[in-house]
Amino acid sequence: EAKSSGANTYKFARRDVNSYAYRRLVIEQELRVAVERKELGVYYQPQVALTDGAIIGAEALVRWRHPTRGIINPGDFIGIAEEVGLLDQIGTFVLEEACRQSAEWTAKGMNPKVAVNVSASQCQRPDFARDVLTMIERHGIEPNMLEIEITETVAMLDPRTTARELAPLRAAGVRLAIDDFGTGYSNLASLTRMPFDVLKIDRSFVSECVRDGSARVVVATILTMTQNLGFETVAEGVESAAQREFLLGQGCTFAQGYLFGKPMPAAEFEALYLAKRRSDARDLIGEVRRK
Ligand code: C2E
Ligand code: MG
Ligand code: MG
Ligand code: MG
Repeated sequence: EAKSSGANTYKFARRDVNSYAYRRLVIEQELRVAVERKELGVYYQPQVALTDGAIIGAEALVRWRHPTRGIINPGDFIGIAEEVGLLDQIGTFVLEEACRQSAEWTAKGMNPKVAVNVSASQCQRPDFARDVLTMIERHGIEPNMLEIEITETVAMLDPRTTARELAPLRAAGVRLAIDDFGTGYSNLASLTRMPFDVLKIDRSFVSECVRDGSARVVVATILTMTQNLGFETVAEGVESAAQREFLLGQGCTFAQGYLFGKPMPAAEFEALYLAKRRSDARDLIGEVRRK
């Protein structure tokens, strides 16, 4: 009797240790320290022009360099960070770091735009726009070198308020992008009234667009619509040449995905950017000579 209840308790305790609540608690505690110990860093993924493959920008993506577990991707901690109120602080760090990096790249004669993701709680703060503009000024970067990404779902929670909050950023020249487009429920009328420059087609459609007929129709429809509405488009998650060809054929202008480069440390991005520019220059000289 006592034995079996002991075994039960033990089993229960074991299960408890592996539970979501326990894992969440550990991550929460470690994340608080991580922010202070500067274990968070930013990776950059290239964005390219589909026609010639030139690198036109970088998306800043947060990474956690955990002392024992190595690099942790945002999927494993962003949700918890949001729940426990740490995401604002993390978001501000990423924005600040992206602005600093952009200033450094400009000083080195590089000019990729830098795109930064912002969370719901971050962009719904009334002084969000003012804080971003202050940061831009402090780092001395051109506003149009910074792009703010907001997911379609967050942007459309309250389209009028979002539009109003973001208007000062747009007016100052900051570029605004809708992320993960196609996964939320956009009201087309409000979409045209929103101050966005760029629409990013969600990876779930792009990755299926060669294999799956309905994904293909979704991508083609989004591209026709965005061209008519005057948005720039970025296809997310391009992994194959076949996907690139399909997107090019449908008039998509920009893309991001493992085919062009995974998210990487700033120094690696810089090396790739400069190597690409050198080889483009060589191609250009070759073309001129052939003429
Ligand atoms: P996202 O903004 O849609 O970023 C694109 C994600 O897709 C990145 O994942 C990137 O590594 C991944 N990806 C890009 N190309 C490919 C591809 O060809 N194949 C595959 N399989 N994946 C690809 P990551 O870095 O793990 O970020 C996941 C999400 O976490 C982001 O999705 C974004 O919503 C969020 N996130 C990342 N950094 C931040 C941040 O600083 N602040 C906030 N609020 N959210 C962030
Ligand atoms: Mg994004
Ligand atoms: Mg996305
Ligand atoms: Mg996403």
